Amino acid sequence: MSLTVLMNAGPWLSVPPPGYGGIENVIATLVPELRRLGVRVVLASVGESTLPVDELVSVFPDGQFGALQRPYNQVCGVAQAHLARVVRELRARDDIDLVHDHVEAVGLATLTAMGPDGPPALHTLHWDLAKHPALYGNLDGGDRVRVNGVSASQLARAPRALRDHSVGHVHLSTPLAVGAERRSRPEKGEHVVVLGRINPGKGQDLGARLARQVGFPLVLAGPVGPYHRPEDLAAAGAEARQNPDVRFFHDEVAPHLDGELVRWVGTVAGRERDDLLAGARAALFPLRWEEPGGTAVVEALALGTPVVATARGCLPELVEHGRTGLLTTDEEELGELVLAAGLLDPDECRREAAARFTPAVMAERYLALYERVRHLTPAA
Ligand code: UDP
Repeated sequence: MSLTVLMNAGPWLSVPPPGYGGIENVIATLVPELRRLGVRVVLASVGESTLPVDELVSVFPDGQFGALQRPYNQVCGVAQAHLARVVRELRARDDIDLVHDHVEAVGLATLTAMGPDGPPALHTLHWDLAKHPALYGNLDGGDRVRVNGVSASQLARAPRALRDHSVGHVHLSTPLAVGAERRSRPEKGEHVVVLGRINPGKGQDLGARLARQVGFPLVLAGPVGPYHRPEDLAAAGAEARQNPDVRFFHDEVAPHLDGELVRWVGTVAGRERDDLLAGARAALFPLRWEEPGGTAVVEALALGTPVVATARGCLPELVEHGRTGLLTTDEEELGELVLAAGLLDPDECRREAAARFTPAVMAERYLALYERVRHLTPAA
């Protein structure tokens, strides 16, 4: 079977991303596996993307992430310039069998608007969409446009128009899951980690309060808005508080930080991140939002760290209560569960990740969806 896919990563960040970049990381993980399976990949991204692909299509030389802070019409302007380039490419050539689109809302709208002229397209939903129904208008005319979620829970909460065009979900993956069951057993410390953007939905304030109440050492790792290092945030002026995540950090999280039991270490990356997670007694996700995909959840499992979390969003799909983690609908119970997590077997977590969350498993599932979507014909 020969298949050429135009992978639309959007104009925001290069692939792989220079630092944080959820969607771009998913693409960077997926594409090498697809190419190993014989798929030709044309990547629509920015000029400085370094991911090995068969062809790169771009309009912007570098990532336009900064533009996302600008007014909404300017954000759309950047997205549309990128998409116009993609559309031009699709109209100019006939070797693209299918588009795999990752550009929120406007990507899907553009492909739908192409109607019968457009190639078949699969749009992956990456966010919690229940909050944004208006962003996704009607998909009438999108006979050959389908969507997939990153979890069943995300799809179940998505607007009706999207569910009507859904071909199912594909869970996220991590390269850390490859051979996870064969790596030596991690040596565990006493600490617990919350890994993720500092954000009310991720619930670091709750985690920090419970750590103080119950008495366990807690490390919060992740950026606060655009600030990756504590010293950078400390040096930022009062205007930094215009960012809602910076306000959340100062108002709700910082009062619990004592520099000993509860610490914020900023963004951790690479080996430092992996060692921090692997050495933790538990990875805590005190979620207050419906987590759509949970990359950090599958990373924790791959590194042999049980997950303790509120049972929200995709968590019950990724974590088996009592085996690879402990889940609760009562957030006040999380502190007790952290203490109990030491009883769970790290090997079970790693085996689970190696069986379910490798890039190869994800690529095979996408290939199956591509096969369904590429044969869709325009309605008469
Ligand atoms: N991450 C990281 N360092 C940090 C915090 C987060 O490398 O200090 C990574 C984390 O390992 C994961 C991603 O950022 O790969 C977050 O993805 P997730 O799906 O968990 O959350 P999102 O931020 O996309 O909602």
